[in-house]
Amino acid sequence: MIEPFLSAVPVLEKLEMAGYEAYFVGGSVRDFLLHKTISDVDIATSATPDEVKKIFPKTVDIGIEHGTVLVLFQNQSYEITTFRTEAEYQDFRRPKEVTFIRVLSDDLQRRDFTMNAIAMNREGKIIDPFDGQTAIKEKIIRTVGDAKERFQEDALRMMRAVRFVSQLSFHIEEKSLAALKKLVSLLENIAIERKREEFQKLFAGANRKQALELIIETNIYSFLPGLQNKKEEIQDMLSFNMDRLSPREMWALLGYCLKLKGKEIEGFFRNWRFPLKEIREIQHILLFLEKRLQSEWSTYDLYIAGKAIIQSTEILYLVLEGIRETSSIHHFLQLYKELPLKSRSQMKVTGNDLMIWYERNAGPWLKEKLDHVELAILEGHVANDKQRIKEWLSRCNHK
Ligand code: ATP
Ligand code: MG
Repeated sequence: MIEPFLSAVPVLEKLEMAGYEAYFVGGSVRDFLLHKTISDVDIATSATPDEVKKIFPKTVDIGIEHGTVLVLFQNQSYEITTFRTEAEYQDFRRPKEVTFIRVLSDDLQRRDFTMNAIAMNREGKIIDPFDGQTAIKEKIIRTVGDAKERFQEDALRMMRAVRFVSQLSFHIEEKSLAALKKLVSLLENIAIERKREEFQKLFAGANRKQALELIIETNIYSFLPGLQNKKEEIQDMLSFNMDRLSPREMWALLGYCLKLKGKEIEGFFRNWRFPLKEIREIQHILLFLEKRLQSEWSTYDLYIAGKAIIQSTEILYLVLEGIRETSSIHHFLQLYKELPLKSRSQMKVTGNDLMIWYERNAGPWLKEKLDHVELAILEGHVANDKQRIKEWLSRCNHK
């Protein structure tokens, strides 16, 4: 066995010593079999959440209604989920109630795809009742049981299938794909936050281009916020080399291809339920991208944008222009690094100083003056030094 499973073995042992069953499950086992790096190990157990909490002194209730407890153990955290079934489904969404059970195989049966329905015990023995290992070998995404039923139970699984296409470069088994195309409109019932999470992972995957083609082919796009009737715009996206873009840059590229302007940008990303901070960042990227397509970066724009936005904007610019050479990113980041100021708070003169020097009360003139000094420092007309600024200002006034 390898890390991070090895460190988690004592967690399974503790559960077993208390008389319960416990296994590694889900994405971590799948990624292990794929020889991929494993992010976090998920643990499934026959112990109920209350029983888990009695065994481990440090726990956090993160989804107790679904049977998930976060256990802090030897400076690591593990999500431990009680075996469960999701017998009753409502409105094509996740079940309203889950039923805790004591049998592993029933827990595996409720999982979405065969590659995700494999368990591993603490000795590394694989339990694979739905032959997920063959699916992994053949790179196939296949539902556990009848695809139509499984997508009807939880329509999000259709989007999960496509995001796994992106993440793993697998393809969706023919029957599952046919069911998906037939039932795609059930995505209407799914919370946007859940859709966004899947799209975010799709945007991060290596095979994102094929996955986006599938989003079009299956008509999934028609059930995503702001993308109804936007087939051509999404296709536009595919004409660019998107490989090097981060998910955030992918969202910005989507916004660009949709030709969103001004308020529309905020509206679109609000509809996707993005946090305001991220909306602002994407707005900034799109704003500077528009400028960058017209001209080089100005000193002032580098200053306002900041490192992360410069980097994202410039890489998008290169992608849009089809430029493979990326040295301009480094060039503009270097210019940014050399700026005498990174934020207004670093200015060695304050509004207070100005009021004393000019013997004037606060008013609109003050902001104007501060802006003026800020730009002069940025453009190298005056050093960021209180005395120098005072001298420079008095020289300005006599001109
Ligand atoms: P990732 O590597 O992206 O985390 P994952 O397979 O671990 O992929 P998660 O969303 O973390 O995906 O879910 C963990 C596991 O829970 C899955 O492997 C699957 O077994 C099960 N699962 C998650 N969502 C669903 C769903 N909507 N329906 C059925 N089973 C699900
Ligand atoms: Mg996971």
